[in-house]
Amino acid sequence: MPRVFVPSELLTHERVTLDRAASRHLVKVLRLQAGADVCVFDGSGMETEARIVRASAAGVELALGQRHLVPLPLATITLLQSVPRGDRMDFIVQKTTELGVTRIVPVTSSHGMVKPPPGKTRRWRTIAQEAARQSGRADVPVVAEVTALAVALADAAAAGGTRLVLWEEERTLPLRKVLAQVPCLPVTLLVGPEGGFSEEEVESARAQGFSSVGLGPRILRVETAALVAVALTQAAIGELD
Ligand code: SAH
Repeated sequence: MPRVFVPSELLTHERVTLDRAASRHLVKVLRLQAGADVCVFDGSGMETEARIVRASAAGVELALGQRHLVPLPLATITLLQSVPRGDRMDFIVQKTTELGVTRIVPVTSSHGMVKPPPGKTRRWRTIAQEAARQSGRADVPVVAEVTALAVALADAAAAGGTRLVLWEEERTLPLRKVLAQVPCLPVTLLVGPEGGFSEEEVESARAQGFSSVGLGPRILRVETAALVAVALTQAAIGELD
């Protein structure tokens, strides 16, 4: 069934009028007409049955029906991602949302982008919302504001659970080995920028309870490392079964 995102504060009445982008998607792209059933999700884990009562690309009107609680993903994976240059963060947000990551924290580190251009966080939130809709998730991963590495490390330590920094120079402890025992949740994965982490940054992660883990002898691109790390973690938790 077609899915459409509507913020929960708009779902308090029996009817709702969708914004232009969502309306265009339903009417122009999916070619739905009045009477068609759609599924509304609000990112909080609730889904609402709905029927189109007015099909207009300028503003589709929906009649809302029953609300259901949908089971949220089991795993709680936070991805601390040093923001790479260009638009590669867009790809990381989209793909890790499909894989079921629950929180994405864009971080700044010494060999990465110092400060992403304004408006990026908003863009990443829209991408996460769209990827959640497309992949059938009832929740939308939280995309935090861009955070300095030291602050993100301290937050992760306060949250507890399993903390791992992906480090290409780690030769003795592969991520796969750590995940061979089902990890303690939440799992926080820290992935570096194109220039990698400095020794001091890896040390400061260790000081906050992170273990450095490797993904084999090849140097992976930032986005490849992020996807492999999230996918292996999801597999270990049973979320890819
Ligand atoms: N400093 C390196 C490349 C960094 S790769 C250089 O320029 O040669 C970007 C990020 O991906 C790294 O910071 C790390 O978090 C992750 N990564 C890439 N390959 C990895 C590997 N084999 N094992 C663990 N992490 C890896």
